[in-house]
Amino acid sequence: MASRLRSLANAPHQALRHSTTASFPTAASSTRTAISATSPRLSSSSAFALVPRRHLSLRSWFNAKKATAVANTTFGNDRFSSQFEPALEEKPLFYPLSKSPLAPVRQKAEWIHSHGTCPVCKDQHPTEKSQPPVYECPDCGYPTHCSEDHYHQGKHNHQHVCSTLRQVNEDEHDLRSGRRLKEFEFPGRQHRDEAVNLSNWDTFLYTRGFLSMNSERSMRHVSHVLTYPMTVASVLHQSSPYQLGKDLTVEGLKSLAALRHTLHPTRLAGSASGGELKTTATNTVRVFCLGARAESQLPPHVWSQLAYLFPSTAFQIHFVGPDAIPATRAGKGDHQHMHFENMTFVYDKSRYEAYHAEAGPFNPYFDVFFLFSPGLAHPATKGMWKPTIPLLLDTKCAIFGTGFNQTDVENDLQELETCGLEMDWLMKPRDNVFKSLKHEVNVTDLQQTAQCNWGLWGIRGRRYDVRPSDQE
Ligand SMILES: [Zn+2]
Ligand SMILES: [Zn+2]
Repeated sequence: MASRLRSLANAPHQALRHSTTASFPTAASSTRTAISATSPRLSSSSAFALVPRRHLSLRSWFNAKKATAVANTTFGNDRFSSQFEPALEEKPLFYPLSKSPLAPVRQKAEWIHSHGTCPVCKDQHPTEKSQPPVYECPDCGYPTHCSEDHYHQGKHNHQHVCSTLRQVNEDEHDLRSGRRLKEFEFPGRQHRDEAVNLSNWDTFLYTRGFLSMNSERSMRHVSHVLTYPMTVASVLHQSSPYQLGKDLTVEGLKSLAALRHTLHPTRLAGSASGGELKTTATNTVRVFCLGARAESQLPPHVWSQLAYLFPSTAFQIHFVGPDAIPATRAGKGDHQHMHFENMTFVYDKSRYEAYHAEAGPFNPYFDVFFLFSPGLAHPATKGMWKPTIPLLLDTKCAIFGTGFNQTDVENDLQELETCGLEMDWLMKPRDNVFKSLKHEVNVTDLQQTAQCNWGLWGIRGRRYDVRPSDQE
């Protein structure tokens, strides 16, 4: 929530928080092995051939008008995504920003010219306004310094981010190249008995039958879209990569055991009507995404990838917060519902305090909260979360959060730990197995990059178990 009140000045972290799904650049792990579409393990799997594939319309997604606050962000490509027009017919994908055939990229260069800083000028005259950064690095294409002379002086520092910026540049041109983005043709439902391996992106994409993941670039594009549903799924699923002792606390396992009881119902003998197997499934799991921004903009069939991993469960995904209404549904009211397959999406612009009373009562077996890069400690948003956190802890439901880099996560958790509320750790902060593999660039400071949902943590309001001695 909160983001409506976030000032859109030049605060880089704030700009990061506004980033939406249609943006982002790169720096994938070099240790990952790209899954080739021609891999024998894929072609020999007849099961995958039967899986209906859904074509995700990226065009409508990128064309969607973003909320004003989002469109104005200073960060990354967000501000351009509403102007997406496939314009490039073929490679090359690298251009100096000011020479890009894409107007949005040229606008980004202009924006950096007017709002950016030359780091060498800044070092030499910290109190004076620097010359505008108009010299474009020949390797990444970004306007990094005020002149070629200052570029060479500052090249050593710039080299740390140059390859990341280059990837960002090329990824952005690739997404808008007009090529058929086959990597976004996602698999449909899985068979009830199909096993999925959630150890990492590679094993997930392979065992779920995603095709066309034949480059690091495709992995970056897809991970950036799926990071939200997959962060949720990877925490909740019984095949979760997060283990007791290593990542989860005992309290964390208790909370997840309660949710998994609902999510993975026991199969019963006999058949229900229609030949479906009988199970103990009777309830819907509610996932509350608070302060929703990019996650609520995702097309429903992207979120379906979460539901497919829990074939017996119906989901309600509640997106709550001032920016929760998807751009495609703007003007249709401040509270909206949408049904898609076995999921119900609820979008509500209210502040959480107002929503809480209507959505309750809460049950730790059926309800879970996710705060994606909430900015609990950020000066612009901190105050907005103050009334929310005690309400969340009071539900005794599991609460998971993410952050876009280590500092962001640490700041948020320090804020929680010093707020004086009683809570238990469910998951100690760690890097998120299903973070976006794309890097985002802070256009106000090109030295800063971040990844969507980089880190992950979990808490819950403290419960006091009644012990026999208490009853005496
Ligand atoms: Zn300079
Ligand atoms: Zn460079």
